[in-house]
Amino acid sequence: MIERPVNESPELLELPVAVAGEPPDRLPRWLKRNVPKGGANRFTARLVHRLHLPTVCEHARCPNRMECYSQRTATFMILGDVCTRSCGFCSVARGRPRPPDPDEPRRVAEAADRLGLRHVVITSVTRDDLPDGGAEHFVRCVEAVRRRTGASVEVLTPDFAGRVESVDRVVGAAPDVFNHNTETVPRLYRKVRGPKADYRWSLELLRYAHKLNPAIKTKSGLMLGLGETHEELLDVLADLLEAGCELLTLGQYLRPPGRYMPVVRYLTPGEFDVLGELARSMGFKQVASGPFVRSSYRASSQLSAVSSQRSERTKYEGLRTKG
Ligand code: SF4
Repeated sequence: MIERPVNESPELLELPVAVAGEPPDRLPRWLKRNVPKGGANRFTARLVHRLHLPTVCEHARCPNRMECYSQRTATFMILGDVCTRSCGFCSVARGRPRPPDPDEPRRVAEAADRLGLRHVVITSVTRDDLPDGGAEHFVRCVEAVRRRTGASVEVLTPDFAGRVESVDRVVGAAPDVFNHNTETVPRLYRKVRGPKADYRWSLELLRYAHKLNPAIKTKSGLMLGLGETHEELLDVLADLLEAGCELLTLGQYLRPPGRYMPVVRYLTPGEFDVLGELARSMGFKQVASGPFVRSSYRASSQLSAVSSQRSERTKYEGLRTKG
């Protein structure tokens, strides 16, 4: 049983509980940012286009794209750019996708190499049309990247429609991080993630991956501002910890242009800081919490931080044993 912190801080008491109200129609000032310009940004964009590699950065209209591309980082979205689900928050195109491209793993590895990535994040559209949900293709991409670059690899997977064998297969490739986003609280699941998603299975998937290989770090993320309450959010965090999840990302939901779910509330940067602290105090080893945080945002730093914590702990335990 994970201990939930007692909410005594006045700041915490101010966290959102309201679901009702008109959605805010103006972007608050903290969500307006200067866009970095420069050659590195263009280099990344050209490279992924030339190699015909969709990125979630572009297809999900990530607000960090300029920043990440400028730093020669991108998150590869494998298995095509058409998704078989229609989540209420996601701007990736939906429809009938093409079969997996057998040359894609090679191109992902080439892009990772040319960008000089030391940590490679690979995600995909949801492929309910494939018997294994695309697990084998994930494995090929992980292996190709490793062979060519030696970089650490993070997979950000769909839920594989409840197929345990698919999780077995992906975990078997031993990625350094196994990431699966919970996205929101159970009450909003159907509305946000559609009828095929299941909160319990998302948790089980993380728990199962963690049990299969505890050396792999498990990670999850949520978008906030969709109408979740503070209590509901704390429940999800407790569930994630119980499932063995070590890394967490919390970011503001931003509505893409079009008929997507409205934003119910913009949390302030201060609220994100408080939530981040709260999550750390509950037991997450690494937490990234902020309006612009996305599940792959500065993923490399998150992994390095948790790895160095682990080696510090091992050193300390070694000294204690010797002492
Ligand atoms: S945060 Fe992730 S998805 Fe967004 S631009 Fe950066 S790498 Fe791409």
